[in-house]
Amino acid sequence: MKAYEKNIRKVEPYVPGEQPQRKVVKLNTNENPYPPAPGVKEALLSMDVDKMRLYPDPTAGNLVHTLAEYYGVEDSQVFVGVGSDDVLAMCFLTFFNSEKPILFPDITYSFYKVWAELYRIPYECPVLDEDFRIVKEDYYKENGGIIFPNPNAPTSIYEELDFVEDILKHNQDVIVIVDEAYIDFAGKSALELIDKYENLIVVQTFSKARSMAGMRIGYAISNPTLIKYLNDAKYSFNSYTMNQTSLVCGVEAVKDKAYFEEQVQKLIDTREWTKAELTALGFTFPDSKSNFIFAKHPNFVAKDLFEALKKADIYVRFFGGARTRDYLRISIGTREEMETLVSFLKEYIQNH
Ligand SMILES: *Cc1c(COP(=O)(O)O)cnc(C)c1O
Repeated sequence: MKAYEKNIRKVEPYVPGEQPQRKVVKLNTNENPYPPAPGVKEALLSMDVDKMRLYPDPTAGNLVHTLAEYYGVEDSQVFVGVGSDDVLAMCFLTFFNSEKPILFPDITYSFYKVWAELYRIPYECPVLDEDFRIVKEDYYKENGGIIFPNPNAPTSIYEELDFVEDILKHNQDVIVIVDEAYIDFAGKSALELIDKYENLIVVQTFSKARSMAGMRIGYAISNPTLIKYLNDAKYSFNSYTMNQTSLVCGVEAVKDKAYFEEQVQKLIDTREWTKAELTALGFTFPDSKSNFIFAKHPNFVAKDLFEALKKADIYVRFFGGARTRDYLRISIGTREEMETLVSFLKEYIQNH
């Protein structure tokens, strides 16, 4: 080992889902199958290329203001970043600086563990119950902060607001982050609680329900004090995180509420159709309130199914952990894509 090796920060990185560069039935990274709002394309086509000479607005003022209006909060309560991954990473850096461990579920978004390791934040992972539900009593103990997604991923399970509030009530001395990447497919957002709990941060993204994973936009909403701390950390790291194009397109996406709601409803309808079809084929899964289904079949090895699907150019996600190796995480695509998946599975089941 070279002497300098011991001074290198070694990390085991997060492994994102595959992005094949040819056309496949892509149900592996929870992207939205529909295009963004029509206004996004118009805004993009009328962008002034000459402006690229200039740095973007470091405050992302227009986007922050548009989001603040949409959610009925002050501009000072909104922080934006390069996807919610960027926002969450900044939250870990800013808010999780205790010697006590932060808490997040054992089965959840696997990036949490990566950031904790990267920043050397101690952490503990309370175990989900038999049905993959978060056990709220596990979060009553002393800790250095809490983060969990609602709905959780990859389990797809949504917990009602009284459940979220119970965790908040028991943890008023630490920062609690609720990662709501899938909230638009589910139910009430914890945003309702931000005035009541000053230690609450709600994080959302444009990547799933807003069809803009490629633009990389995420945001946090909280009280002005915590948002200021986040901005201070951001300006100490990289002032110009958001590029001009994302800022412009993001504003247009938020403005078109009607398109957004229509498209989310279409996806929910397809999800419910897919649930019925998978059930008829013998699959079981937690009741999804997200844009994906976490399914297993009693007679088939998930990894084999995953590979057979992939051979047929149908991409789903397989995690392979101790408690997840019997499951496939299947994103909801268009109705046609889900029909392709279902007919493949029908045939596979008949022939094996
Ligand atoms: C997809 C996802 C994110 C990250 O999304 P971005 O594309 O970075 O906005 C964060 N948390 C969860 C639980 C997710 O599923």
